[in-house]
Amino acid sequence: MKKYLRLILEIVLGLLLAGALAFGYWSYTGKNHVMHELTDASEGMDEAKEELEKLTKELEEAKEKAEELEPAAKQLAAVKDSFSNGVVLQDYEAFIKAQKGPVTSERQLGLGALRLLTKGPEDAETVSAFQKALEMAEWSSRLKSICAAQNALAAAGQKVKVLADCAADKDDKAHGKKGGHAVHWDYAGEMGPENWGDEFPTCGKGMKQSPLNITGPFEKSKDTLVVNYKEGPLKIVNNGHTIQVNVEPGSTLKINKEVYNLLQFHFHRPSEEQIDGKPMAMVIHFVHKNAEGKLAVLGVLLNEGKDNAEISTLWNNAPKSEGPEVVVEKVKFNPGNLVPAAMTHYSYEGSLTTPPCTEGVNFYILKTTVDIAKKQVVDFPFKRNARPVQPANGRKINAN
Ligand SMILES: [Zn+2]
Repeated sequence: MKKYLRLILEIVLGLLLAGALAFGYWSYTGKNHVMHELTDASEGMDEAKEELEKLTKELEEAKEKAEELEPAAKQLAAVKDSFSNGVVLQDYEAFIKAQKGPVTSERQLGLGALRLLTKGPEDAETVSAFQKALEMAEWSSRLKSICAAQNALAAAGQKVKVLADCAADKDDKAHGKKGGHAVHWDYAGEMGPENWGDEFPTCGKGMKQSPLNITGPFEKSKDTLVVNYKEGPLKIVNNGHTIQVNVEPGSTLKINKEVYNLLQFHFHRPSEEQIDGKPMAMVIHFVHKNAEGKLAVLGVLLNEGKDNAEISTLWNNAPKSEGPEVVVEKVKFNPGNLVPAAMTHYSYEGSLTTPPCTEGVNFYILKTTVDIAKKQVVDFPFKRNARPVQPANGRKINAN
């Protein structure tokens, strides 16, 4: 088995690349398919025509790329036979299972590539393996044009299924807006927090939503927190709503005896949480998941004061506008340097503070704040990305 594992590892290294290429090629063909349907649907539809023009341009660019990818795709077809018995896939699945911590996006992509080679693109699990890899790697921006096409088709009354899970803005017509745009949400205007519930029901109807205004009387918190974050390569993304740093497996937060893995951390300006009705300059949310999939967020409030060197490192490498994750090869970053030593905290049960506002997330907001310079606050590329405080609905806030 050991000997075999080595072989698999070598194959998988190749697959990481092959998987990316295959997906690029595959998503091009998917786009092409949508394009054909869109052509049919667009007759007499001004909005759909607009989308079509946009898509034509994108498709042209994609075509050039796809041509570059063709040899790789052929190569894939050539090695496909050696995978068809499924043994390699089985062993790789076992290999992933044997790894500690959550599956990395690269391994998930490898899994997708192996599935593609073994079961082909029609297999439902192949599709979901790639979709999962996409979600994990925040590559969804690549699929924007497909979503635009899907929504244009939906606006034209067609039922379509495309690769991406694009939530269509069903209310576009009712609101009398120009159709054809994927649901996005925002921190102001028509797509602002007070309307998130239209598209994401939990945001509107949930009874345990975050953030909260933290104010007494408090219950006694019995939880002990131990942070053990490790240095790793800097993977940073501007996802259009915040600056987020994605973290490799190995950094943990222990809540009592339960181990939570740090997935990512991101920023809000001003802080979403308020203390006695007042927000701080910013907050960092460290998002963790345990083996059962339960989420826990550690909040570190940023107070306007001294310059923060760690934040300078992040801001210097953060993409100024929305786009895919950037891996900054030469920068190693330790998230632990952003966390104060004292772990005294407020805690409460809450939710994701962005759509879909899923509940069952435990929040731990540290009492000790960390400094950030006024200029650094101003340099954060989002002027305001904080959800307003939500009703407590009888929830108790704990403190220690
Ligand atoms: Zn957050």
